[in-house]
Amino acid sequence: MYKCSQERMTDMIKTFSQYGDAGHGGITRYSMSPAAIQARKEYEKRMKAIGATIEVDDVGDMYATIPGSDPDAKRIVMASHVDSVRNGGNYDGILGVMSAMEVLTTIVKENIPHKHPLTAMIWTNEEGSLYPPAMMCSGIVCYDYLPEEIRSGFRYDDMMASKSILDHTSTFGEALAKSGYQGDKKYRLSPDRYKCYFETHIEQGPILEDNGNDIGVVDCVLGMFNYKLKFYGQTTHAGTFPMPKRKDAFLAAAEALAYLHDEIDKLGYPELVYTTGEVECHPNVHTCVPDYFDFSLDVRHEDPKVLDKVMDIVKSCEKQTWAGCTCKIEKQWNRDTVYWNKPLVGYVKEACEELGVSHQYIHSGAGHDAQFAAYVLPATMIFVQSKNGLSHCEDEYSTPEHCTEGASVMLNAVLKADKED
Ligand SMILES: [Zn+2]
Repeated sequence: MYKCSQERMTDMIKTFSQYGDAGHGGITRYSMSPAAIQARKEYEKRMKAIGATIEVDDVGDMYATIPGSDPDAKRIVMASHVDSVRNGGNYDGILGVMSAMEVLTTIVKENIPHKHPLTAMIWTNEEGSLYPPAMMCSGIVCYDYLPEEIRSGFRYDDMMASKSILDHTSTFGEALAKSGYQGDKKYRLSPDRYKCYFETHIEQGPILEDNGNDIGVVDCVLGMFNYKLKFYGQTTHAGTFPMPKRKDAFLAAAEALAYLHDEIDKLGYPELVYTTGEVECHPNVHTCVPDYFDFSLDVRHEDPKVLDKVMDIVKSCEKQTWAGCTCKIEKQWNRDTVYWNKPLVGYVKEACEELGVSHQYIHSGAGHDAQFAAYVLPATMIFVQSKNGLSHCEDEYSTPEHCTEGASVMLNAVLKADKED
């Protein structure tokens, strides 16, 4: 059993936390921003120092590779992202990149024999927090392998035209061209050159901590659907129109949302999660009764049958009136549960057992680049305990011990995959 260095890991966490430091504990590191470019330069510097070769593909994804004993063998890749959400933490994404770098560094420094070339990879624009959508560049690179309904959201030209949410004019394509990190399409992740894929990530939830486990052996990314529920009423003056005659679309939506919660909770699935996080009100004026209101409903569960039951409840909203208003539902998008490659999941579990690291099977509720990579290559993920389950915020934290354990688990799982053929 090989172990990664906590000293190096601690140093990396400290170093990368400076790039985009918001001055109060976290970072804002939008893709292709000066802060993200600093993080890329740090990665390049450290990877070149251990003798890795750097390649960059046409959307800025970076690949640092050390050779194995067989020059014809396909590469094993470990990947994640260096970009963050606004006022995000020091672990989401970057931990997977640091873990991959640490695995390569340990292998080089300790001269650990391996057959396959090994690659530490950075995905561009995973968060999509400045240029939407999320997982933009894994969507582009894995495009040909994705199911039609998913891939239609990741057309290359559309992605290049994605506008900054800050100035609404500059595009991702312009930022990419300016960054100096627009390389060659021939370097894209592909099954011709790559054998399998690992991604280490913080859990971003409280399950590992609540169960006293350091590491999550991830088995799938949960299936989900996202709908918009729209309510149509009649606007009129807030001071003159009697209550019983109103068709208030906001009230209609509130009643429907309470109904959804009651009915969905009655199904009684403890692992089912659903969220309304986005609303729109028209005319959104305090002296007007709203004539239009919509809200989002994001629903996630492993079992498609459970999602179907929730779908039936959502559909039933259209069949009734709410506070005198009509309701229409509109699908935004959905995805099926993506299961990780069973042998790779097995290697992660064995590595945990052999290292004596406390662990459990866990699902991923969040989306990750790995779920697109899984359509291209055998893929799996490793989760590291998140303190208080917090993520996408400045309080996001994982201990250096847990971060190093995650890297050690990935190192040993990669070495098992290396021996497989
Ligand atoms: Zn992430």
